[in-house]
Amino acid sequence: MKNTILKVESISKRFSNVLAVDNISFAVNRGEIFAFLGPNGAGKTTTLRILLDIIKADDGKIEWNLGGNSHHMPQPNLIGYLPEERGLYLDIPILKSLVYLASIRGMDKTEAKKSALEWLERLGLADRAKEKLQVLSKGNQQKIQFIASILHKPIFAILDEPFSGLDPLNQELFIEFIKEINSKGTTILLSAHQMHLVEKVANRVFLINKGRELYNGNLLDIYKTLGNKKIIELHYKSGLNENSLKNFKGAENIDVVDQSIVKLTFEQNTDIKSVLSELATTDGDFDISTHKPDLHDIFLYLVKNYKI
Ligand code: ATP
Repeated sequence: MKNTILKVESISKRFSNVLAVDNISFAVNRGEIFAFLGPNGAGKTTTLRILLDIIKADDGKIEWNLGGNSHHMPQPNLIGYLPEERGLYLDIPILKSLVYLASIRGMDKTEAKKSALEWLERLGLADRAKEKLQVLSKGNQQKIQFIASILHKPIFAILDEPFSGLDPLNQELFIEFIKEINSKGTTILLSAHQMHLVEKVANRVFLINKGRELYNGNLLDIYKTLGNKKIIELHYKSGLNENSLKNFKGAENIDVVDQSIVKLTFEQNTDIKSVLSELATTDGDFDISTHKPDLHDIFLYLVKNYKI
């Protein structure tokens, strides 16, 4: 437990007829960025709320080790939490609200003000410091929520859907901020459904679907073990005829992404020439591209193979 900040053992949570979290165990180690990853309704937020004692699990055990009493909920000054829903005061000036929140989490007010202004500057919101949160756009409100969750320099930050409401440029900016905060000593547990973003920032991932674990481990290992495939993508220029691909030889998996894109998964040692000659006789007008599986492909593969 020395290097483990949080240990979760076999937690479950049921809401009437939905088993939102089904016997989940994992541990977060000091210094890492641990990502909870899964589609809408997978059980991510429920798990995070259980960790923070906002709701109680039906079963299971949670152990914290952030200094002090290691078995109970840590002090608020040690933790940062970015909730999925907006949780700040809408009708109080932004800077005032940020300074207040950091100060009740143990930060000196002068330092909090200086640091809040720096963050507002970096996020392009310095000129809005005296405005009320309610007048900001959804994405800008998310930026303020983010500042509020990390301003007091917590040892451990739990970020629920940090990329929500942000445009692609700001998503990239947040990735850099998360890395920076982590490099300065904050261990991070984040939840998200955007696999392409999580791939850029996490050391370890917990893939979750319908409340259950699909994979828990190192991000690099997942590529070694499950990413050892070839993916061929067909981009249809006009309507796709799904039947034409039904009996495609050698494909482990055929994923119709939408009406213009189909992904075919093959074993690593598949002879691509024979695949291409079969594609040449397949109905439809499409372009072909190949790539290694990304996290999204691996997730789909796991969902399909575990038949949850
Ligand atoms: P999202 O990415 O959409 O936020 P999530 O992975 O965070 O999804 P949860 O919010 O944890 O998923 O929800 C998991 C399941 O539990 C869903 O089926 C949801 O409808 C259900 N659920 C969550 N909270 C409640 C509640 N308070 N009462 C009833 N059902 C709930």
